Amino acid sequence: MNYTESREQSAEILRTVLSHLGQHDAAFHPVSFALWYEHVAGINPRLSQQLKPLLDSGARLTEAKVMELFRAYIAPVDQQAVEQISGRFARAMVGLAESAARTGDDAGRFGDQLTGLVQALQAGGSLEPHVHQALENTAGMRHSAQALQQQVASSRQEIEQLQAELGRVRDEALLDPLTRVLNRRGFDQRLAAMLEQPSEPGREHCLIMLDIDHFKKVNDTHGHVTGDRVIQALGEVLRASAAGETCAVARYGGEEFAVLVPHTTMTQSAALAEAIRQRTKALKIRNRKTQDVLLTVTVSAGVASLRTDEDALSLIGRADAALYLSKQAGRDRVTCA
Ligand code: GH3
Ligand code: MG
Ligand code: MG
Repeated sequence: MNYTESREQSAEILRTVLSHLGQHDAAFHPVSFALWYEHVAGINPRLSQQLKPLLDSGARLTEAKVMELFRAYIAPVDQQAVEQISGRFARAMVGLAESAARTGDDAGRFGDQLTGLVQALQAGGSLEPHVHQALENTAGMRHSAQALQQQVASSRQEIEQLQAELGRVRDEALLDPLTRVLNRRGFDQRLAAMLEQPSEPGREHCLIMLDIDHFKKVNDTHGHVTGDRVIQALGEVLRASAAGETCAVARYGGEEFAVLVPHTTMTQSAALAEAIRQRTKALKIRNRKTQDVLLTVTVSAGVASLRTDEDALSLIGRADAALYLSKQAGRDRVTCA
């Protein structure tokens, strides 16, 4: 499940969802509920991006539109979906290629005809049959050019839709299913991209590594399911802390997270790490039924800024070493490399 909002947060979201449901034409079923929930909760940027112009224009979403958006942006993507996308892509391409080839043949014939006409003109012979043929072929050419134009337009639409679906499949592959932040693969890609791009003048690229303190004890005392809830909650804290920034938040592994902060300063990224530390400390994991506070956790963090010509491994190693110093110094703190 992708939803990590607390009962209170979801109650807040529910109110806005209900108002959206009331303003559109689709029925009040789980599909339209999921659509508005993901939009209102701000957890599906691609969906919101599609919805925004529709909402701005005051359009009322029909049943069909809601289903279409659900299929494209919410329904789980699986291998079958990927295969379907490839199949549709191949069909669109074949259709386009066939139309282009037909137009090519017609254009070839038309060209030959014109050459014949020119030769007849030069020879001073009878033009009548050539002119007649040329007129016929002109009409044929116009027809196949129109067919190609239509085919191009519909293929283009199909390809744009496929591009959106593929984008979603690709994004999904880079997300950690428990927390919905980037997974290790997503992190590696974003880090590589950050290393390739020089930082703006007077700024630097930074990496924050975070690890939950004494997490083994959480699992031992409260069980793995509660442990997972803690990891999810920390994911939320990180997402909220990094919101509006150009940071990339990732689950680096187990109970360890990483935040990439490009074009920043060491002071700013240390402040961000400190804000995350404080927010985590204030977090309360509650019993779902009684709402009693079950536990609180703390995190330790290490921050490093990228040096000239440094590679990914070295940067991670230094942030990790700073994190280790935080652990050694008593945990629940931030150390800068
Ligand atoms: P420290 O303060 O030194 O980091 O202590 P720690 O107990 O947090 O560290 P340690 O590495 O000893 O234990 C990490 C634990 O995290 C062990 C592992 O079972 C648990 N863990 C890793 N991934 C998950 C997960 O996805 N869910 C849950 N519930 N536990 C996990
Ligand atoms: Mg730990
Ligand atoms: Mg650890």
